[in-house]
Parts: sequence; C-alpha cells; structure tokens
Amino acid sequence: MTTYRIWSGITTIGGNIVEVRTEKARVYCDFGLSVASDLPEDEQTQSELENLILIQAFPAIPELLETDDFEKLDLPGFHLNTLKTAVFISHLHLDHMGALKFLPKEVDVYLSEDSLKLYHLLLEVGEEEPVKCQLHAYKPNEKVVVGDITVEAQESDHDEKGAHALFIQTEDLKLIHSGDFRFNGYKPEKVKAWAEKARMWETDVLLIEGTSYSFDDVESEQMELLDNEFVEEVEAPLTEEMLLDELTYLFRANETELLIYNPYIRNVERIVQVDKVAKDSGRTMVWEEAYAYVLAAFYPEKQFTVLEETFNGKLSDSALKELVSLDQLKEEPGKYVLQSSYKNIAFLEDFGIGIYIHSNGEPLGDYDLRYGLLLDSLDEYGFDFLSLGPSGHAGRDDIIEVAKTVSAKNTLPWHSFKPEALHKALTENGVQSFLPELGKEYRG
Ligand SMILES: [Zn+2]
Repeated sequence: MTTYRIWSGITTIGGNIVEVRTEKARVYCDFGLSVASDLPEDEQTQSELENLILIQAFPAIPELLETDDFEKLDLPGFHLNTLKTAVFISHLHLDHMGALKFLPKEVDVYLSEDSLKLYHLLLEVGEEEPVKCQLHAYKPNEKVVVGDITVEAQESDHDEKGAHALFIQTEDLKLIHSGDFRFNGYKPEKVKAWAEKARMWETDVLLIEGTSYSFDDVESEQMELLDNEFVEEVEAPLTEEMLLDELTYLFRANETELLIYNPYIRNVERIVQVDKVAKDSGRTMVWEEAYAYVLAAFYPEKQFTVLEETFNGKLSDSALKELVSLDQLKEEPGKYVLQSSYKNIAFLEDFGIGIYIHSNGEPLGDYDLRYGLLLDSLDEYGFDFLSLGPSGHAGRDDIIEVAKTVSAKNTLPWHSFKPEALHKALTENGVQSFLPELGKEYRG
C-alpha cells in the first residue's frame, strides 16, 4: 500500500516537499527552503539544519537527514533508514532545492540535465553551495526506478530552463508534482503536453502550484509593474516575448543614457535573448564574468562582452568578445547596456543618470531587506527604476485550465499563500479537490 504525505510547502511559496512511500521505497520531491537559510549570527549553533527545524522553517523528516551534530533535537538520522530512498528536483530554484545541502552522501538526488549543468556552473562561480548527496540527471520520458516506485519527468516551462513536472507511480498510486509552470514563457506547449499526458495516464493525485492565488489582486500588481507608456494598454500578464519588445523600445528610446539590466542568473533562456535584443538595438550588452561564464556554457556558439572590473580570466578566450571597463561605459553610456548584480551596485555610483531595469534579479522583491537598500542606492546615484519581469508562474485561469485538463481524482493546491483560494476555484470549476494537511499520511 502506498501512502503520500506533504512535509512542507502548502502555505508557502516554495519549500515544497512531498513524500511517496511504499513498504520498500520512498521518494521525495522537491527539497527547497521557503526562507533564506542564513540565520543571524547570534542564532547560529553548530547545526544550521537543527536551527531551521527548531524555528519550524524546515520539517523534521525522520531517517533522511544528517542529524549527528544536533544538540537539542532527537531526530533519527539517515543511518537508520531501511528503504530505497531518492529525491527528485523539479527545477533549480532555491525554494525547490536549497535544502539539498542537508542530505547525507548516501542519498541519490535526480535533476534534469539542464538543471544539473546549471548547478555545477553556479557552484563554479560561487552562486551555489556544495552538497554531499549524489547528483544524477534524469531525462524527460525516461523512468527512474527507486525500489517499487518509478518517477518520470515531463518537460515543462518555468523561468529556469530545466523545469519539469514529475510523474510518480507505484502499484496503487499515480501522483504528479506539477513543479512551477506558466503559459507566458517560451514553450507553453510543453505544459499543455504534460497536462494532456497526465489526463491519459489517469492521475490519482495532482499537486498543483498556486502562486498566483497568493495575492488579492494579481492583475493590479502586474499593471503596476508595467507603469510606463509603451505597455499602457496591456492587460494580459507580461510574457517573455513582450519583455523583449519592451526592452527593444527602452534600448532605442534613450540614446545617451546608460541602461542597467538586472536579471536572475538562473534564467539563461531569457538573458541570452536580451544580449541579442541589445545588439539589434545598436547597443552592446556588457556582462559580469559570472553571467557570461554560465551563458557561454549553454550557448557555446556565442561570444560575450565582459565588464573588465569583474574579469578574472575564467571565461575562455573563444567565448570572450571583448572587455569593457566602467570608464568606457562612462565615456559612451548610450552605447551599452550593463548587466549589474546587487553585489556590484557600487559600480553605478558615478554615472549620475541612467535607467535601472529590474528583471527578476536578486534581490527578488520587497520581502528581501536588500530590495529597499537597492532602491535607496539607485535614488542616491540618480537612476530611474523600472521593474520588468515576466512571472515564472501561471495566471489563475491557466492553473485551472491545467487542473481541468489533467482531471485527477484529486487535485491538491500548494505552493501558495492562499491554497484555500485555489481550492475554492478548483471546486467551483468542477475539479475534485481537497486542502491537504501538513504531515498527514494519505492513502493512495
Ligand atoms: Zn517555486
């Protein structure tokens, strides 16, 4: 008999962990953190994991974690485990994989080929933390066998190239973890395809992300982001395609000012397009070396211009087009677009004028203290601020459409501040649904 249990992530955006268990095996997906894991120094003891569990920011999952260095908690560690165990990751965002560092070396972890590649690259440029667990790549439509559980990943679309939905099957349960998905990206057909496949598969349980059900009025929020003349009439959510149109307009409209672009380093599909849009608009995109290094690994046929002040010689000669210094940018600001990450904000100090385009880069939003600091610095430096970031998450109607297509026996909302709102919408649309309870064991 199969059971499944949600360990965390019902009322948070991210930090989702579901366990599927038989007498012989258990599978977990995903394995992220819904909070930044760095605790203030005075709260730090030996174990970061123990602290997170104590403040209820991470679930106390028995026989899975490294607990040897725990001082207060009595939690059985992985060495007591007797079941075949594996962890599957839908995509490489911290809220879905940031807790991998807490797994011991005996645990097998599966990610898509693109996500695994991205992980190694980010580790090389200091944007990821090392892990002890064993990392493996899964391929779409290929079954990974864990004891008597099989997991098959299906390509999806999210603002990370390697995003997949995960289909988990046992003798008596077919459960899908949707992962994060959207229709406003580069390949909405992938999302539709896995939903269709799920319908044919006769899914028992669909765990579906409900990010866009977290806020009272998502449309008005979206419109605030688009508060400029070019997209005034836009009513639909911003798509990746619309972003490129908007950037083209901005890059061409301001002939003398420096434009700053701050995207998320994990969104390689978007940033390679922005490089092209800059070029087509008569500007040169100048990258920090870490970004260029990650981009070059995914797009080896291309060359990138790098900001000299960030260059350490990591990028290969064949991928390096040229180096451009801050002084050159100051001399001819209208010729360039500078990608700028938060840690290098001081580079912008002496320009006196410019436009800063925040496009899902870090700090991601105002829940991060650094976001306010960023705005203060830009104000001080004389930069106008513009937020232009297509969401990685499906709109409300699209979530319902996917749920209706799948028509699972039960569709469970999670990954939302208001899962009850999604539950209500599902029910109103004739989709069988219940609100899951944290830690409760359900039968397949
Ligand atoms: Zn997420």
